[in-house]
Amino acid sequence: MDTPRLMAVLAHPDDESLGCGGTLAKYAAAGVEVSLVTATRRQAGRYRGHPPGHAAHPGATALAAIREGELRAAAGVLGVRHLSLLDYEDQRLDCAEPAEVIAAIARQVRRLRPDVVLTFGPEGAYGHPDHVAISQFTTAAIVAAAAPTRAGDEAGGPAHTVSKLYYIAWPESAWAAFQAAFRRLVSSVDGRERQATPWPDWALTTVIDTRDCWPTVWQAVSCHASQVEAYDTLRTLGPGHHEALWGWQSYYRAFSTVNGGRARETDLFAGIL
Ligand SMILES: [Zn+2]
Repeated sequence: MDTPRLMAVLAHPDDESLGCGGTLAKYAAAGVEVSLVTATRRQAGRYRGHPPGHAAHPGATALAAIREGELRAAAGVLGVRHLSLLDYEDQRLDCAEPAEVIAAIARQVRRLRPDVVLTFGPEGAYGHPDHVAISQFTTAAIVAAAAPTRAGDEAGGPAHTVSKLYYIAWPESAWAAFQAAFRRLVSSVDGRERQATPWPDWALTTVIDTRDCWPTVWQAVSCHASQVEAYDTLRTLGPGHHEALWGWQSYYRAFSTVNGGRARETDLFAGIL
């Protein structure tokens, strides 16, 4: 049996730690080969709470380097074996050329040959356009990676079929814990407000127990100092709140070629191993 392989494809540095850190840490510790593809360096964002243009903000170029360094540190803490940065423009991933992004992700899928892929769901957690875009591009890339390779195709290797695709799917309880620790998550897109969008409990096909990993996740989250140090509440979180934040991770099984049915899974590799 080959080493099982898990790949997360996400939009920004810190998505891996905040969105699915417990899952990545748990499987890495169990010997699964974990890879991470991050589409942007999130260089258009804030620095320690200061918006771009503020005197204390180092500028987009410097922030890109800072955030890449934080991402590499967090990935190391979580046990990520392969980290790929795709270098797309932050906050504009949905405006990138779809065929190009899909091919870039498909190349990583063919190169690293994951059994299981996880990404954001179609709602992008709170409607963030980059999250919505990476969900769509990743889903399409899995189809592209499985297509037969044509002569002259520079797609990173022979065709590869992913066995299972999962979407990060937070229920109401996870959002409540998260927004109590950080802030109310909203994104304003073309004048309309988008908010955290909980998944109904019945729709969670898969819930992973990551309670043993929360100290590792917290360490990974803390690597993103340019972001998390703006949140005073985080410094005073008790173990119970940490466990509520990182102790259980839930997903929606978008497809599986190896299992199905109504029973809730406790393992992303159910049906594979
Ligand atoms: Zn993000």
